[in-house]
Amino acid sequence: MRVDLHERLIASDCAIQAAALVESCVHCGLCASVCPTYEMLENELDSPRGRIYLIRDTLQGGTATAVTRGHLDNCLHCKACETACPSGVQYGHLIDLGQQLINAQQPRPFWQRAKRLAIRSVMTCRPALGTLARIGWALKPCLPGRLRALVPDRPALATGLAPRHARHVLSLQGCVQPVFTPGHDAALSLLLDRFGVAMVHASGSGCCGALSQHLDAPHAAKAAMRRNIDAWWPAIERGAEAILSSSTGCGAQLKDYGHLLRDDPAYAPKAARVSALVQDPGTFLNALWAERPLALKPLAAGEERLAFHVPCSLRNSLRAKAQVETILRRAGYTLIPVQEEHMCCGSAGAYSLLQPERSEELLTRKLGHLAAGQPSRVVSANVGCILHLQKASPVEVGHWLELLAQRLPDEECSHA
Ligand code: SF4
Ligand code: SF4
Repeated sequence: MRVDLHERLIASDCAIQAAALVESCVHCGLCASVCPTYEMLENELDSPRGRIYLIRDTLQGGTATAVTRGHLDNCLHCKACETACPSGVQYGHLIDLGQQLINAQQPRPFWQRAKRLAIRSVMTCRPALGTLARIGWALKPCLPGRLRALVPDRPALATGLAPRHARHVLSLQGCVQPVFTPGHDAALSLLLDRFGVAMVHASGSGCCGALSQHLDAPHAAKAAMRRNIDAWWPAIERGAEAILSSSTGCGAQLKDYGHLLRDDPAYAPKAARVSALVQDPGTFLNALWAERPLALKPLAAGEERLAFHVPCSLRNSLRAKAQVETILRRAGYTLIPVQEEHMCCGSAGAYSLLQPERSEELLTRKLGHLAAGQPSRVVSANVGCILHLQKASPVEVGHWLELLAQRLPDEECSHA
């Protein structure tokens, strides 16, 4: 797809990079078959190819309209389209650049900017999110049903193990997990410990930057990435074997640090090293299990049938769906086939807050498919998906790491 940059954009790095990505598209349309927004809205302009055309029009016309912005905002950033594209178009990077380009030409209306800033400020600040959560938990019994469902339950206290092995990996705590699902990280540290690997949280690390990246704040995202790299670097130099996140949404962002900081001379080499070290816990634990099987308590009768909700970030960015499935099968579970497995559940970062109606439609559709096979429970791998599904699921939803950690036997007989 040829792009003739408008003269106003000839000196724009963002426009030049976007044009190169647009030109890699051969407009075959194969990506539309896996796009959730095209499936829902049945409009070519809400398909990957349609959005690429809109970005090309912006690059060539030099201006963007609110209609173009609307179609780009409808995108879930799920990257299902990347997996279907025969030309290897980096759609995820392109949509980020397209949105930056449009914002530079035509700032959002005030209320949209204020909403995005508010979401970003609260969600990426652990103390603020913690305070809001405590208020929500206190008021929850008095809230009407629909609002009550939006407040996640208060989690049980959970603490991971203190590091006690020479082998170690770094872990990102993130912003949402410590408040709403501390058990996810605790479970990961318990499982790693049984394999003789310590999980280390570097002080000073925090939000991965994904929310800022997708909420019109790429500079704040880069500041978060640099802060994490600085916090991790001493442990990386001491031989950390990997960087893991119990939330695949954060893991996908960490995997992209090398690309996102490639033009920063002070951080590019370190960011590339971080990206190379990032793995999904499924990949890392699977490799350990292949060397030494993990002893687990037997499965109780009726608990073996699982429906696995595969987060888009696990499938399309980290590409580690098969590794998690292998672990679950090794642990004795039967994975029930789930229809439309490639479809996003509607959580998608802040999408459920910005586009609640479309998010609800996707959630209802996903829950129907997950429950269809009558599983004993639903498991997933991303905090956002898990909290989103828990709002309305008729079946218990949790993280596969917690499911496995709950079956660890007492320590003295832990290894097979
Ligand atoms: S599948 Fe790839 S090459 Fe074909 S239209 Fe979609 S993005 Fe372009
Ligand atoms: S990222 Fe997802 S929603 Fe956006 S165009 Fe690609 S498949 Fe469609």
